[in-house]
Amino acid sequence: MKIIVMGAGVIGVTTAWYLAEQGHEVEVIDRQPGVGLETSFANAGQVSPGYSTPWAMPGLPLKAARWMFQKHAPLVVRAAAVNAPMLRFMTQLLTNCTHHAYDINKSRMLRIAEYSRDCQAELRRSTGITYDDGQKGLIQLFRTDKQVEHAYEDMRLLEESGVKHDLLGTDDVLKYEPGLTGARHLLKGGLRLPGDESGDAYLFTQRLAAMAAEKGVSFRFRTEIEAIEAASDAIYGIRTSAGRLTADAYVLALGSYSPRLLKPIELDLPVYPVKGYSLTAPITDERRVPTSTVNDETYKVAMTRLAIASALVGRQN
Ligand SMILES: Cc1cc2nc3c(=O)[nH]c(=O)nc-3n(C[C@H](O)[C@H](O)[C@H](O)COP(=O)(O)OP(=O)(O)OC[C@H]3O[C@@H](n4cnc5c(N)ncnc54)[C@H](O)[C@@H]3O)c2cc1C
Repeated sequence: MKIIVMGAGVIGVTTAWYLAEQGHEVEVIDRQPGVGLETSFANAGQVSPGYSTPWAMPGLPLKAARWMFQKHAPLVVRAAAVNAPMLRFMTQLLTNCTHHAYDINKSRMLRIAEYSRDCQAELRRSTGITYDDGQKGLIQLFRTDKQVEHAYEDMRLLEESGVKHDLLGTDDVLKYEPGLTGARHLLKGGLRLPGDESGDAYLFTQRLAAMAAEKGVSFRFRTEIEAIEAASDAIYGIRTSAGRLTADAYVLALGSYSPRLLKPIELDLPVYPVKGYSLTAPITDERRVPTSTVNDETYKVAMTRLAIASALVGRQN
């Protein structure tokens, strides 16, 4: 079957790889000059099925109200950016802040994330791909007793989903991550997820794309996808800056841009873009960096060790 994959981020490239493995003829299309050059370029480097947590959680509305007055808040809503899609997103977010919805959403996220992590391990085994990857687990760091209390609720769900975890006191956190010793007085312990991993998403995307190309996947870059041509029951092609392209099947992997293309064919994807920041810094003092990946629960900041020489700090908000 001929399949067009729209989008050459980590999702589009990985999809193309698996489709090529199954013997399909695959073409990947992207507006950028190469793969992984938008969201997949520099994230926080966490492969964290155990930490999969919906943003919509009990207590969020109150927290969000407090964040409005906080200088370094984990989530900021700019008044100037409020529009109809954002209001719809906020309404959906708030209606999912009940204990019942949180339990359902978190356990679903855990199941699919654990499955994906296992697929990734299998991919590593079968291809030998490396991407500054580490398999040393993740520690979620707590600064308040309330955060530790909340961790008990999460541990119940982790237990039910069979996800390994350990609640650690501060001394144990520092045994795993001695680089945090200077912050001992700020910590109240942490939740360790030994099955979680880390790695460079861009490197992974680039290397898998190269392997996919060897398998026959073709890449068409610098091509803007303008519209999907469809009737109610089928897609007939896609309109692009390089003309009309057709295939037997189409995969949409345009990240946060996906809903826009689906609008005319009346498919309503509940995807709303948020902005995050990440920076990669060289390591200047070996003793003060994480050995794996840690998450500061208070500020929702993640810090990940990549390779030997650099650490990556990322925050989504
Ligand atoms: C700061 C930050 C930290 C993060 N940290 C983590 C983390 O630690 N762990 C984790 O798992 N996730 C993290 N994420 C999320 C993760 O990076 C994304 O979920 C992932 O990269 C999305 O990949 P994607 O392939 O779906 O989208 P993208 O990488 O955005 O790929 C979509 C592609 O579609 C192309 N495209 C879009 N529209 C068009 C068009 N009209 N025509 C042609 N091409 C088009 C783009 O050029 C792009 O290449 C983080 C995100 C951010 C921003």
